[in-house]
Amino acid sequence: MDIKKIRFIEPGNLPYRKSFRNLYTYEKYIRTPSHGILTLTTIVKEQVDDTLMYSESISKVVWDDVLDADIVFLGIFTFAAIRGYELARYIKEHSNALVVMGGLHASMSCEETAQHCDYVLLGEAEESILELITALRNDVLIDFPGVAYMSDNGGFIHTGDRKPPESFDTIPDRNLLYRYHKMAGHNTIWPQVQASRGCPHDCDYCAVVRHFGHRLRTRSTESILQDIRQAIAFHDDRALPRLMKLLWITDDNFFADRNWAMSVLRAIIASDIDYNFTIQARYDVGLDDEMLDLLKAAGFMEIAMGIEFIEDESFDIYNKSSSTADIVRAIKNIQAKGMNVRGLFIVGAENHTPGIGYRLAEFVLKYDIRGVLIQSMYFIPGTPVYEENKDRLLHQDWSKYCGHVVHNPARMTAHQLQREIIQASGKIYSLKNTIRAILTRRWREKLLFLGERFWQRSVCRDLRHELPNLPGAE
Ligand code: SF4
Repeated sequence: MDIKKIRFIEPGNLPYRKSFRNLYTYEKYIRTPSHGILTLTTIVKEQVDDTLMYSESISKVVWDDVLDADIVFLGIFTFAAIRGYELARYIKEHSNALVVMGGLHASMSCEETAQHCDYVLLGEAEESILELITALRNDVLIDFPGVAYMSDNGGFIHTGDRKPPESFDTIPDRNLLYRYHKMAGHNTIWPQVQASRGCPHDCDYCAVVRHFGHRLRTRSTESILQDIRQAIAFHDDRALPRLMKLLWITDDNFFADRNWAMSVLRAIIASDIDYNFTIQARYDVGLDDEMLDLLKAAGFMEIAMGIEFIEDESFDIYNKSSSTADIVRAIKNIQAKGMNVRGLFIVGAENHTPGIGYRLAEFVLKYDIRGVLIQSMYFIPGTPVYEENKDRLLHQDWSKYCGHVVHNPARMTAHQLQREIIQASGKIYSLKNTIRAILTRRWREKLLFLGERFWQRSVCRDLRHELPNLPGAE
């Protein structure tokens, strides 16, 4: 097969739409694009010069450009799977391109995904995508590990699991993503850098640990620093400066290798990089004074803590080694070091009863948690929580698997649970709390609060819209 042109597409949950709301709400028609797919685009560009990526998170797809490609690669998360299948069908009907799919959902649900494309690339595809291109060019059988497909006679073929790459120092070329530079001026799209992959823990609902594995793999410090510099330059290179100068380190568990994490932070401190950072973390980093001092000195203004639950019973149910007392100690310690805590929460656990939204909001306000993400229990195919609760799921409309209620909870109705999320958000981002934030917080935090209030309103509007269709609605 002759391969001269390759296009990558990241389907959105909804197709991109130009909207005034893109300026302040995240994830409706606009969100930070996948750097995993952008990294693959960068790697493939080395072999096939005419390579470009589209992301429906930040632009429409230019079909005239895509439909004469030799290969179109679609990378899907669960919430974008249905849209991804729709795009794959469209490409098949309107072009001769070979359609290849990958990403977290494609890997976890490879048999389902294989029905919609020619090949599925499983897991991290930095190495397998080059092998695939070489095999296709040479017209040889695709039998190396890390691929799934439907054979001509309709049988499902899985060539075996593949070891994830040890080295992933490729710095994504952000210019290969169509219109990224223009859209990166939006304050809702943050520069992002991934420094490590994997997490040694095993929370039952976690899909990323199933995708990246339990063993932590890290990038070299030089490559991380270079990536950070390029990300900042790319986002801040514009006539109208971005108001929100904040870079997101996207790792699942940056702190799992303490010595490595400290060496990266020390390198940032010693470098010419002067920026604000945010990072996701388990509570335990909040009990490590030495690490917190380094984070503060490196420019981290907040920790986005995977608090998840506010009752110890929930941690036990989902195999999460945490306790509410330790979490509270960690929150107070982080705040005492001059950083904020953002809270990532899950509702709809087996032990959750009506009133969970109110209790959660009280917890957030009591401990001055600045910014929340409240999601209903995730059921991502391939996780233990999904496998154990398949029969309690309301549907397989994957587009709703982004934090909306998609199951029948044990101790309340789905309708009640969705209302709990709306009520918690309403209480945390109430008018009273908004006025207080405007009067008392520093300007960057005021902006963050206001942006989040708009975003929460937009999310809750969608959740409210779904209420009449949920079991338990009167
Ligand atoms: S600690 Fe976080 S990344 Fe690790 S398994 Fe649990 S949820 Fe996943």
